[in-house]
Order: sequence, then C-alpha cells, then structure tokens
Amino acid sequence: MLQQALETAFQTAQPFAEGAVATYIPELAKADPSLFGIAVATIDGRQVAVGDANAPFTIQSISKPLAHAWALSTLGPEKVRRRVGVEPSGDAFNSIILDPKSGRPFNPMVNAGAIALVALLSEEGVFQTPGDFLALCSRAAGRSLAFDRQVFESEQLTGNRNRAMAYLMLNNGIIRSNVEAILDLYFWQCSVLVTARDIAMIAATLANHGTNPVTDEAVFQPASIPDTLSVMFLCGMYDFAGEWTCRTGLPAKSGVAGGIIAIANRQLGLGLYSPRLDSRGNSVRGIHACESLSQQLALHAFHPDNHASNLLLPTITP
Ligand code: GLN
Repeated sequence: MLQQALETAFQTAQPFAEGAVATYIPELAKADPSLFGIAVATIDGRQVAVGDANAPFTIQSISKPLAHAWALSTLGPEKVRRRVGVEPSGDAFNSIILDPKSGRPFNPMVNAGAIALVALLSEEGVFQTPGDFLALCSRAAGRSLAFDRQVFESEQLTGNRNRAMAYLMLNNGIIRSNVEAILDLYFWQCSVLVTARDIAMIAATLANHGTNPVTDEAVFQPASIPDTLSVMFLCGMYDFAGEWTCRTGLPAKSGVAGGIIAIANRQLGLGLYSPRLDSRGNSVRGIHACESLSQQLALHAFHPDNHASNLLLPTITP
C-alpha cells in the first residue's frame, strides 16, 4: 500500500514542471531541474522510495528544525526561547525583520532565527565545529553524511543578506560573539549533503520521538519533539505555512535546494526532492506529492481517520 501510494503521488506531482531552481546561491543554479524523488520511512523501520530518491542535494533550511531540536535537547526550552521566539511571522525565509518588542527573531525556521540558534549553540559549546552538526545529521539519518564544500563556499561568498541580518542581531545582543564565525557555522549547517531517503529517515527519527527507528539510537530528547514539530507546523513553510497546513496537516520544512521534510507523528517520515521552486522558495512537485500522500494515507493531523498514533500502522503495509 505504501509503495502504491508513493507511485500515485509521484504520477500526480510529476506534470507540475513550473517553477525554477534557486539561483541566489550560484552553486544551486547547477541542479538538474528534472530530478524528482520521494521516500518514506516508518517508525517500525520500513523504507519505500520512488524516482530519484538517492540523488544528493544540500539540506539547506531543512537543517533548521534539526538545529532547533538539538538546542532544545541539549540546552532546554527556556534558554532557547530567550534567544528566539515561536511565533509565525508570515514573512519570507530571508526577511530582515525582528520582533519589535523583544528584539528576537520570530522563530527558528526563518534565517534570522536559525542564525540566532547557531550563535546560542556555539556560545554554549554544543556547536563548535561544522563536524558537530554533521555528526548529529548522520545519527538522525542512520548513515555517515558529508558536506558539499562548493555550496558552502558559494553561500559564504554571496550570503550578504544573511550577513546583514547577523550584524543586526549583533547590534541587538542576540549574537554575542564573532559574527563571521557564526555565519560560517550556519553556512556549513546548510551544506550537508542528503538524499530523499536520508530526509525520510531523519523525519522518521522525529516521528519516533527522537530515536532513529533503524539504528535505535536516541538522537534527540523526546521532550524536544513537541516544540520542534509545533514550530514546523506553524512556520515551516514560511508565508505558505497556513495553506500548507490546511492541505497536508503535516509539520514540515522546505529547503531552497528543493527538499521537503514532513512528519506524521508516531507514524512515518517523508523526504521529497525536486529542485524547481515556487516564488516562496518551496519545491513545486514536493508540495503536490506531499498533499497527495497526506490524502491517500489520511496523514493530516486532524483527519477523522488519523488516530495520530502507531495504532494506525498495521493498516499501512508496504
Ligand atoms: N542557505 C539558505 C540561506 O540561508 C537557506 C534558505 C532556505 O533553504 N530556505 O539563504
């Protein structure tokens, strides 16, 4: 049933050939726009995929919920909340706007919030070298991942909007150490190479309350998962978050390389990849495929047939 659902989602989404690969990070403009892959990993360890599910791409903003869960797991919610809010801003991912009352970024899913979290994790000695984040992603994916150095260098060279935002946060006291070093860690964080299969396994780790369902390794604290998924639910798709949540009912996060991660809590994780983006920076085919899967498998959090627990699992057979 899962394989069939993936194939139907693939066929439904494939005709949507509009949109364009991201070009503001020059290295991303080289992506093959025709690539399209979907993968599912269930919390009882099953994996199913269709299309280009083994094609590598950079994780980009899909790294943000992972860094958030990492910060919640290692530092606890109070410290995290003091540095970054949990309110949807309804703004684009790269907007240069901070909460006028608190001076904090609105949430950890926009670039400002993600950079603020890198600063906090670095100050606290959790995120000291790029390899620290790579190790976390590798544990969540259940295999050894690598960086794309070209994408890192491309972002470092051209990321002046992120640089402007980071200096604004230095001015507000949200960043308290060397801005360029924090930005480098953030650019490395965005440059982890993954596949749709990896993203599905990372999603399944989040769906399984922080423990990788195949390796059985506890990657995130279970207590970090409710906040992580709530923030994804409200803010993961930026200024499309409301429409997305009505259509799919899944906490999710997109990245500008064309990836989408989505989680059906206590059930399964989805990883999608197709590099053509809409004007908000979300994968066009990824959105259509996710919507189809959500409908076919009754994954919407508020669908009458979704019991939001692994009680449903026996009915979803490969
Ligand atoms: N590295 C990208 C940036 O900072 C991440 C943005 C994204 O994936 N939405 O601009």
